[in-house]
Amino acid sequence: MYYRKPYYYDEFACIAGKCPDTCCAGWQILIDEKSLEHYGNIKGKFGIRLLNSIDWAEGAFEQYRGRCSFLNEENLCDIYKELGAEALCDTCRNYPRHMEEYEGIREFSLSLSCPVAAETILGSREKLQLIETEDDLEETEDFEDFDFLLFGRLEEVRSLLFKTVQDREIAIEERMALVLKLADCMQKSLENGELFETDFEKCLEIFYQDQQACSCGAGEPGQEKAPLGVRYRQMCFMLEDFQKLEVLRKEWTELLAETRKQLYARGDQEYYDIRERFIAFLDSRREEWNQYGEQLMMFFLYTYFCGAVYDDCIYSKAVLSVFAVSWIQEILCAVWCEKGDISFADVVQTAYRCAREIEHSDENLNLLEELFESSPVYEQESLTRCILEKGGKR
Ligand code: SF4
Repeated sequence: MYYRKPYYYDEFACIAGKCPDTCCAGWQILIDEKSLEHYGNIKGKFGIRLLNSIDWAEGAFEQYRGRCSFLNEENLCDIYKELGAEALCDTCRNYPRHMEEYEGIREFSLSLSCPVAAETILGSREKLQLIETEDDLEETEDFEDFDFLLFGRLEEVRSLLFKTVQDREIAIEERMALVLKLADCMQKSLENGELFETDFEKCLEIFYQDQQACSCGAGEPGQEKAPLGVRYRQMCFMLEDFQKLEVLRKEWTELLAETRKQLYARGDQEYYDIRERFIAFLDSRREEWNQYGEQLMMFFLYTYFCGAVYDDCIYSKAVLSVFAVSWIQEILCAVWCEKGDISFADVVQTAYRCAREIEHSDENLNLLEELFESSPVYEQESLTRCILEKGGKR
């Protein structure tokens, strides 16, 4: 079995009671069957508490005012306190460690939804390194119908996407545009039955040249230069889509409402004025901003892109990364409007809140995928115009 993980993976340590936003509140925690059985056999006073504080039909901890019933006033876990670490259920023991499983390989990551993990991911100035190991301790499970050839191509293209996202010669928005273009190209190659004939490295070279020509003002071959004014409409559409998702934390609704109020409620002209000033602010911190964007894009691509082996939805996996990073950036623009500045803590908080809503609900991930596949807003050209539009007065 092969294993892959980010270089910082093993350094993670939960800060428990000191956590600014504990993972033991705000969502349903499902309990694996073995732990449920164990909890059902505990005797005495604590056994009675377990009996009364678990939804046995759902297999989940009951919540009290949005908090797990076992989360005490010091924000510590009473199961851990009473029964020890080994009694934690799989969800609590593993979180924020996340695993994507493919035939013969497991990829580990730390979920961005944990504040400590988000701090580690965003705070890293190094280019993300993945550590690979191999052992024969476990027999490789046979995945029915696992498409090895597609998986191999996905891994190759993901490496090209990584290289693009880590190209520090260009702004993060341009890297995101190239990611969309290459993923779209791969999707079309798959659909046209040309996946194994296409030279994606060559394609990427051409996309780089086209993009350079565009940013020099020449426009994409055969295309007029995009007019200003696309972004406002697109972001408003995307916000509506965002609001269709199941809400996991009530602060999230408030955060989106505040973003709407700060950025969109006063119309497009005001929005472009804000963007112009925000971009001037960002330009004074370009390096930092690019670093956050790079680490976030790497996180989403690493975690989700190869999952296309199970559903063939290559392009929508790339859109997920661009959508999430764009929204983290847009919410930060609203934060800047309100405070006149953005701290590292603001970036971390926005990233983990956003990740909680997107990543921790299968319903949300599925709905987003459907929207990315069906709405013209997420088509490669529209989305690219939206992320590359610089702002400024129309
Ligand atoms: S969110 Fe992360 S740091 Fe906070 S309690 Fe959970 S695992 Fe620990």
